[in-house]
Amino acid sequence: MIIVFSMFKKIGWYLKENWVRYLFAITFLNFASLVSVIPPKLLEKGIDQIVNKSLTKQSLWLLIIILVAITLFGYIVSYAWNYLLFGAGIKLEYTIRKRYFRHLLKMDNTFYEKNIVGDLMARATSDLNAVSMTAGYGILTLVDSIVYLLMILFMMFYTISYKLTLASLIPIPFIVLGVRILGDKIHKAYSESQNAFSELNNKVLESVTGVRVVRAYVQEHEDIKRLDESSINAYNKNLKLVRINALFDPFFRLVFTLANTIAFSYGTYLVLHQDLTPGQLVSFVIYLGMLGWPMFALGDLVNIMSRGNASYDRIDNIMKQKSEIIEPENPVDVGQTLQSLEFRNVSFQYPNSEFYAIKNINFKLERGKTLGIVGKTGSGKTTIIRQMLKQYRLKEGEVLINGVNINDINTKDVRKFFGYVPQEHILFTGTVKKNIAFGKKDATDEEIEEAIDLASFRKDISFLDEGLDTIVGEQGVTLSGGQKQRLAIARAMITNPEVLILDDSLSAVDGTTEKEILRNIKRVRKNKTTVIVAHRLSAVEHADEIIVLADGEIIERGNHEQLMALNGWYSKQYIHQQMLEKRGGE
Ligand code: ADP
Repeated sequence: MIIVFSMFKKIGWYLKENWVRYLFAITFLNFASLVSVIPPKLLEKGIDQIVNKSLTKQSLWLLIIILVAITLFGYIVSYAWNYLLFGAGIKLEYTIRKRYFRHLLKMDNTFYEKNIVGDLMARATSDLNAVSMTAGYGILTLVDSIVYLLMILFMMFYTISYKLTLASLIPIPFIVLGVRILGDKIHKAYSESQNAFSELNNKVLESVTGVRVVRAYVQEHEDIKRLDESSINAYNKNLKLVRINALFDPFFRLVFTLANTIAFSYGTYLVLHQDLTPGQLVSFVIYLGMLGWPMFALGDLVNIMSRGNASYDRIDNIMKQKSEIIEPENPVDVGQTLQSLEFRNVSFQYPNSEFYAIKNINFKLERGKTLGIVGKTGSGKTTIIRQMLKQYRLKEGEVLINGVNINDINTKDVRKFFGYVPQEHILFTGTVKKNIAFGKKDATDEEIEEAIDLASFRKDISFLDEGLDTIVGEQGVTLSGGQKQRLAIARAMITNPEVLILDDSLSAVDGTTEKEILRNIKRVRKNKTTVIVAHRLSAVEHADEIIVLADGEIIERGNHEQLMALNGWYSKQYIHQQMLEKRGGE
């Protein structure tokens, strides 16, 4: 019973919010129960009248009319409670799911590094389902196992025979005992099966998303083995749950058969001794049979509540995790235009890392200027971008927008300044057009066309069967790496952001197209700010300032001419790349 209280405490907020709905649902449910305990009594009257030979046409008609009337009434109230109660369960599921997704959207990158996607999904599906069961079916089992049970017992005890009732109920305590013993086991087995399901979810997700790499490395066999292991584990854990559940049903039957045997033998004895009418014996046996459901409900109540409890905790565990990025108590409004973006002594270490990804980064980017960030892979370029976007909590140094520390600005307000083209291209299932207009749902056709031109994406569209209406993403046509990059650039361009960030976004396009895109960007973004992260140095040649990173530190800085004059990493790399390009062109 503790488990029931503990679960109700957890969803207490919801029950309180919807108390009117529950009040009506429970009232109708009890009406339905009340109506269902009357027919055996009518039957009893009928049989006794037959035995006494006092049955008249009139009394028979009366019995039939009452029976039909209460059946009709029962139908209506049953419809009402079913709708209200199960509807409440569905509503709870919707409410929590909405909160859960909102929460996920608010979480920072650290959260997504700690929690695995498959596991987050399992919580949003099967766990949530288990919780919603408590608010609908759970309440039904609770009410029926108390009110309906008492109604039936009352009918047996007071209107038939207390002696027969007490005798027949002797085996019943075994049910309560059985429920207690098995309930705990079910709780444990259920938690294990949910965990195994989460793990399986992760494995499947990994396999599906990584299928190309798996094939490329001819690791199908290994992958199948790993999946098999998880499947077998989930299978075994579920089987264990089913095995314990399976003990329940035959156990119930056994106890009831015993109770029926007692009722029938002792009941016949009482009839023969004129202590009971034959009609009463019949209605008693019917009532005894009717006890099955509330007894089962009592057992199932423990079941449902244990599952709900475990699942609620699993969801709550995620809901309790806080984003490390704390919204400021008194946010500063920095306006709609970005005048400057500055890094002051910024150093950052990833939460699960032992070394600094960037160290002592300083630069100031004024409105209308272009910043180039270059350096070897792993030198910290993307980390700088992530700090601009407020994706991780910064503890050392300051990032300032218009002179205000971004920790004092709402995250939403920081991010609205940026149009970000990340290294990995995310396409959403839908048309090319929808993907481009992702950040600006109300974009006009002209705006979309312009963005396409700016990103040099026009030619690609003519190759697509249905042009802008071609479906991409999962199950859609597959775009090449370069096409995805240009689509992503068009997506960023359409929002005409204050700061455009290209994170190695030109790596998969050829030199000529790169020049074309850069020329377009320069033209339309004359008064706006741009940050270009690049591996190919030709992409940053025109930048007002270029910073060169190595092991998270700035080792060289200046414009293209200054850096060339320095004769350091930049100039060597530039000459090297130019040579490669020439050779490639020959
Ligand atoms: P670049 O963009 O120049 O290739 P990054 O900024 O991605 O470099 O990475 C800088 C360093 O930080 C690398 O050593 C990388 O391994 C590490 N790093 C990047 N992302 C994470 C992360 N999420 N957790 C821990 N370490 C990371």
